[in-house]
Amino acid sequence: MRTDQMRTEVPAGDVLLADAAAAWVGAYVHIPFCRRVCPYCDFAVVEGQDDLRSPYLAALIAEIQREPRFTRPLDAVFVGGGTPTAVDPVDLGRVIAALDDRLGLAPDAEISLEANPEDLTPRVAAALADQGFNRISLGVQSFDPVVLQALGRRHDPDMAAEAIVAALSAFPSVNVDLIFGTPGEAVSSWRDSVERALGAGVHHLSAYALTVERGTPLGRAVQAGAPAPDPDDQAAKYDIVVKAAAAAGLDRYETSNFAMPGHHCRHNLLTWAQGEYAAFGNGAHRHRAGTRSWNVRRLDRYVERAADSAVSGDETLDPWGREVERVALGLRRAAGVVAGRAGGALLESPEGRRLLDAGVIGAVGDRIVVTRPLLGDEVARTLLALQPGDC
Ligand code: SF4
Repeated sequence: MRTDQMRTEVPAGDVLLADAAAAWVGAYVHIPFCRRVCPYCDFAVVEGQDDLRSPYLAALIAEIQREPRFTRPLDAVFVGGGTPTAVDPVDLGRVIAALDDRLGLAPDAEISLEANPEDLTPRVAAALADQGFNRISLGVQSFDPVVLQALGRRHDPDMAAEAIVAALSAFPSVNVDLIFGTPGEAVSSWRDSVERALGAGVHHLSAYALTVERGTPLGRAVQAGAPAPDPDDQAAKYDIVVKAAAAAGLDRYETSNFAMPGHHCRHNLLTWAQGEYAAFGNGAHRHRAGTRSWNVRRLDRYVERAADSAVSGDETLDPWGREVERVALGLRRAAGVVAGRAGGALLESPEGRRLLDAGVIGAVGDRIVVTRPLLGDEVARTLLALQPGDC
């Protein structure tokens, strides 16, 4: 049996965490600077433009200072990018201080930072911990030099291994990001990457299938005939990581995320629970009081507008739309979601029954779970096609 055809029981601990996360509040801070843009990346990033770093940080702090307060202090902060470690730790500390000043940080708040391995020396790791970060997420992606080169990464496997050691000595919680299914990556190479990450003793692992985004250099190359990732190869590699993570004591709590007890990412959990979070920086998306809104994507425009408002669009779902979103987000978790109206409609629809019969989704008590995580997008598409009259 393949490991993506597995869980029909729902772990009680995961349910408790998933439910608790709905009450949490968070903040996302985007740092768009990268030393080199990777060919597969479609995030709101820039290469160079170092002259905009100071104005950008000033704009971030101005945006934070006018953010409406939540009714409770922040449970989670996630500083991502881009490459946050392209910015001085002291400047990142100023951003955290501004968040604390304006929105407050809960005493046990998770304060997480994305880091690139080539930046995370023991000295930098210690400096970041001094600024209040207590979780680090390292963009390792692979321990195979050929794969790293294909992905356009600047670090080599030794740098990644050294960065993990530095991270583990400075932070109580360490995540490693890996990417599987890069064309040309052997199954043995992927297995080795997974084993090296888990063998290093990280607390959390995120394993993502390489996706080809339109408009990226990789997207253009594939359009011009370069090999694309192979879904069967990716399914086989997903099996490998699921089994290896379980053997190492990491719980698969979402399609791509695995954690030791107590190391589940709060920021992720609250977003999948439709929790509220503020967001700062170019292209950043927030969710507050039932409205999702997002900032202007271009860095220079963000800097120009941040003193006033950098918001470039928003969306407020109607009650049915929110209900569908609740189920779609909740189904990403291993704990699944209470079926409710939209889940009930899914189970009663012809397509939902087909997914149930095929073992793609399962009904456990009042919850629905996706039992074949790699087919989660198919389930989400089915949900989104449902109408309020379907229940
Ligand atoms: S370092 Fe990360 S954010 Fe920057 S271009 Fe590469 S993948 Fe994108």
